[in-house]
Amino acid sequence: MRDHRFHVVCRDCPTELLSDSERDATRLAADHENAAGHNVAIGRVD
Ligand SMILES: [Zn+2]
Repeated sequence: MRDHRFHVVCRDCPTELLSDSERDATRLAADHENAAGHNVAIGRVD
């Protein structure tokens, strides 16, 4: 059972991703920032 999910949202395009782990979310955000040069926010979903 997972307590949280992590919502990765790009501020510069419609990209949105959900991840079960903070580490994955951080990596996905970094990947998109590096690939697209966009600013990505990570929010925790209870
Ligand atoms: Zn983007």
